[in-house]
Amino acid sequence: MQKVRIVAIETEIAEQVRGTLKAPVYGFPAHLEIAEDEAPCRHCLRTIKPRERRILFVYNRFTGKESLPQPGPVYIHADGCQRYSENGGFPEDLRNSPRTVEAYAHGRNLKAQEYVSDGRFEPVIDNLLADPDVDYLQINSTTAGCFTFRIERC
Ligand SMILES: [Zn+2]
Repeated sequence: MQKVRIVAIETEIAEQVRGTLKAPVYGFPAHLEIAEDEAPCRHCLRTIKPRERRILFVYNRFTGKESLPQPGPVYIHADGCQRYSENGGFPEDLRNSPRTVEAYAHGRNLKAQEYVSDGRFEPVIDNLLADPDVDYLQINSTTAGCFTFRIERC
């Protein structure tokens, strides 16, 4: 697999949401709750387990990449966690749930998307990044549609 950067939500944003309980940019109320099911934390890219505290908030999935936004709901741990290492490879906690890999060119131009449900993400990522027009990839939940993280070339 070619070397990639795994780009989770910035720590600064996670800390801001934890401190204010408001969505960045939008200011919509964020929702603090006790988890009853599992969901991926978009900061540490690990599973938020039932009975852990989590925050649901509105996040623009193109933050830092594009001028046109696309807001949607995401979860983070409420009680602090360490941002996923950018050179950590595909997050193992997310491998066993169906994810959609979207390949974008500059200007939010969707070039291709692949549905992965067998956990074999690396060949798909390699294949999509082989297209020089592709600038970055977004990984989303296939079943819920929510943004999970971004992948960029090193
Ligand atoms: Zn977390």
